[in-house]
Amino acid sequence: MVYSQHYCAKCGSEQIRRNGSKNGQPNYQCTACRYQGLFVPAAVRKAAQYAQVDALLVERNSQRSIARATGVARMTIAKRLKKSSGSLAASAAAASQKGPAQTLGGVGVG
Ligand SMILES: [Zn+2]
Repeated sequence: MVYSQHYCAKCGSEQIRRNGSKNGQPNYQCTACRYQGLFVPAAVRKAAQYAQVDALLVERNSQRSIARATGVARMTIAKRLKKSSGSLAASAAAASQKGPAQTLGGVGVG
């Protein structure tokens, strides 16, 4: 028998409980983050993959290497990058600015 463990689609926590039903399917609520929804296995798997993709994007990995590591299509990664470019770019820029910005002042002409 194939039994699929349910995970929270938002935070990936296993601490979810049944919370009635919706459209004939059991509705679940995460006790960790209070996220509520139909935890369909495919959606859960994708959510976990996308979370991994986002984490790798923040580390400025190449799209092709992320696609290889996670199994997510490269165009999907490009789409996610475009959609969340505001927050991701800001955090990436903040991370990259720390190093070079300080050394730039020290290296003067002279
Ligand atoms: Zn959760």
